[in-house]
Amino acid sequence: MEVRSAKIHIIEPQRTTVVAGDFDVIISGGGPAGVCAAIAASRLGVSVLLLEVCGCLGGVATSGMMSNIIDAQNKGGLLKEIIDELDELKMVSEHYNCVDPEALKFVMEKKALETGVCIRLYTRVVDCIVSADRKMQAVITESASGREAWTGKVFIDATGNGDLGALANCRYESGNSEQQLQAASLCALIYGIEKNQIPDLIQQERAAGKKNLYTMLENAGITPSYAMPTIFPISSNGYLLMSNHQYHVLPDDAQSMTDSTLEARTELWQQISTLRKLEPRFTDLHLGTTAAIIGLREGRRINALYNLSIDDLIEGRIQPDPVCKSSFSVDIHGAFDGNKGYTSSGFKVKPYDIPLRSLIAKDVSGLLLAGRCIGGDFYAHASYRVIGNAAPIGEAAGICAALAAKQNITPDKVTYEEFLNAGGNPHPEK
Ligand SMILES: Cc1cc2nc3c(=O)[nH]c(=O)nc-3n(C[C@H](O)[C@H](O)[C@H](O)COP(=O)(O)OP(=O)(O)OC[C@H]3O[C@@H](n4cnc5c(N)ncnc54)[C@H](O)[C@@H]3O)c2cc1C
Repeated sequence: MEVRSAKIHIIEPQRTTVVAGDFDVIISGGGPAGVCAAIAASRLGVSVLLLEVCGCLGGVATSGMMSNIIDAQNKGGLLKEIIDELDELKMVSEHYNCVDPEALKFVMEKKALETGVCIRLYTRVVDCIVSADRKMQAVITESASGREAWTGKVFIDATGNGDLGALANCRYESGNSEQQLQAASLCALIYGIEKNQIPDLIQQERAAGKKNLYTMLENAGITPSYAMPTIFPISSNGYLLMSNHQYHVLPDDAQSMTDSTLEARTELWQQISTLRKLEPRFTDLHLGTTAAIIGLREGRRINALYNLSIDDLIEGRIQPDPVCKSSFSVDIHGAFDGNKGYTSSGFKVKPYDIPLRSLIAKDVSGLLLAGRCIGGDFYAHASYRVIGNAAPIGEAAGICAALAAKQNITPDKVTYEEFLNAGGNPHPEK
């Protein structure tokens, strides 16, 4: 890896920052976790601000162009509401668990607005104010409106990468014991071919379709960087494509993200151009759009009151304060061992509880964690990181935040009984 850090620093003049708003609950990041947190908190009657750096809500599922919802089967709550609304709009695919990403933006934004959430897009959280006794007071943002401060009672880090926790100097981990991270992927929307023309590439026996696509490209001289390139149908002639792996992409290094995005986009273009020339059925295949952001599977895992471990998954541990049940396998994308596909590293997962304590930051008070940045180890994260868990984790964080804000207490003081009484529903299938 090329080291680009400059040795020279400049001292910026001290400045005064306008307080643009004061809210009960402030959520950084509008992915599946942040959106569900915002709606859940707002429904409990508190004022909610949702800050998102991209131009839409949905995170990896929309800006990242990967809306295949894994581990949704045993979930209720907001995730089910969202999927049911998409189903009514006929925007749920019969293949995989895919929903239309554009429809997902629409439904998430509509539901958040209907509930009274104040949404601010194009706004990045760049700093925060923490008091001497380690309580979060405000977040600082940068946007077209300049630098602004937002004060609140309770804050939620739903940035996926754990930006806010890191800005607050919380301890965190990322990657495995050797700081190796899962691979990233730049996903894409493709269109211009009917589903019945590509049964060999979208078989329900999923691995076969992936292997066929890989072999087809390899034989044509374009070896994909991802060994299991996948086509996810979202309509009769539109698909999401996940066919590249970018290795060693650092979630706290814009140059690393830039370089990998440029490389991945070139690879995607080559893949589609090659297919177009390969067989007549691909002649009209188009690369509709590449995702607005490179999909990082892994960022920071912020130190929480309870950090989930692989042992919790192997044992299927029941927790005293569950927010949802995760059933997904350990799913590590990466080339640590030269494997360009994915692996469970030999771990077998039994359905396990995600506890509320894993959503409460340990090193600063007034901060909840939602989505893939909750407390856990490398292998546990590789399981709970999917959308079907991020959404209910977000919903639980929103409920807890609202309860804390209403009582002017920190989230760790909210009792589990209060959480359940306010609508927390860890086992909707029962
Ligand atoms: C390539 C790839 C493929 C995947 N495939 C699947 C799959 O098939 N099925 C599945 O269920 N899951 C899949 N996942 C995992 C899943 O998409 C994510 O883990 C899930 O989206 C996590 O939700 P989240 O809300 O925690 O984070 P994210 O979806 O990452 O959302 C975080 C949001 O915060 C915003 N943000 C970040 N930093 C800041 C900041 N400083 N200020 C303001 N806003 C900020 C981001 O723009 C984003 O909108 C995949 C992930 C990747 C990367």
